[in-house]
Amino acid sequence: MSLAAAGQPLPGKNDAPPAEIAPPRQSAIAVRSPTPAQLEMIHRASASLETATAEEILVWAVRTYFPRFTMATGLGPEGCVIISMLAKIEPRVYVFNLDTGYQFRETLELRERIAEKYGIVVDLQRPELSVAAYEAAHGGPVYRTDPDQCCYDRKVCVLHRVAKDFDAWASGIRRDQSLTRADTPVVRWDKKFGLVKISPLARWTKGDVWRRIVDEKIPYNPLHDQGYPSIGCWPCTRAVAQGEDERAGRWTGMAKTECGLHTGAE
Ligand code: SF4
Repeated sequence: MSLAAAGQPLPGKNDAPPAEIAPPRQSAIAVRSPTPAQLEMIHRASASLETATAEEILVWAVRTYFPRFTMATGLGPEGCVIISMLAKIEPRVYVFNLDTGYQFRETLELRERIAEKYGIVVDLQRPELSVAAYEAAHGGPVYRTDPDQCCYDRKVCVLHRVAKDFDAWASGIRRDQSLTRADTPVVRWDKKFGLVKISPLARWTKGDVWRRIVDEKIPYNPLHDQGYPSIGCWPCTRAVAQGEDERAGRWTGMAKTECGLHTGAE
C-alpha cells in the first residue's frame, strides 16, 4: 500500500527539519528494579490470578496500582476488549497508543469509535521526530533498512518515556499468539520498562476474543475483515492467506517477529 493510499502525508524534500540521529537501540535507558519483596508479591499474584477472569485480573490491577496503572494498545482486538472492560471497571485508567506515524487510517478511525462508545480517549504518544524528519535524518525509510531500529525509535523509546510515570501496565498479549508469547504469565516484572506487566488475556484464545467482540458489539478494526489478523504499521503489515499464522503478515520477509515491546521483559 502506498503512503497516500494509507492516508499518510507523502514526505517531501522540503519538509525535513535538521537531521537528528536517533540513539542506537543498545543504548542504556535507566529503568527501575524491583525489590525482592516486590518480586515475591508479583509471583504470588500471578499464581493466584492464573485462573481468574480477565475482569478479575483488571480489578486487581486497578486496586493495586491505579492511578499509576496504564495500558498501551495498538487498538488490536485484544486491546479493544480490554478497553471495554476498563470502561466498566475504571474508565480513568490512562490508555495510550504508540503513534509511530505509520499507522493505518483505519486504526486511527477506530480510536475515535472507541471514544464514542466508551468515553475512553486513547491518547496518542508520538516519537520526537515526525515521519518526514526521521526519514530525512536516516536517508529514507528506516523500516526498509533496519526495522528493529525503526521500532526502537518509534515505539520502544516512546514507551520508555511514558513508563516513567507509572508502576504497572496492561497488555493484550495472549499465549496462543506465537511461540515467543507462549509462556506469558498473568503478572510479571517487565525489566525492559521497569514496570509490572499485567496480561489479563494471557489465557484467552483468539476465539475467546472474537466471541466477546461479537457478543458485546465492541468496535474493531475493519481491516480484520480484509485478511489482516494482526495489524501494526502499514509498511510492515500485509494480509495473510488462509491457514497462515496470525502474525505471519507482520514484517514479511524479515527475521523480525516482534516490535520489541514484548520481548526482553524477563
Ligand atoms: Fe517502523 Fe515497521 Fe516498526 Fe512501525 S512496525 S515502527 S514502520 S519498523
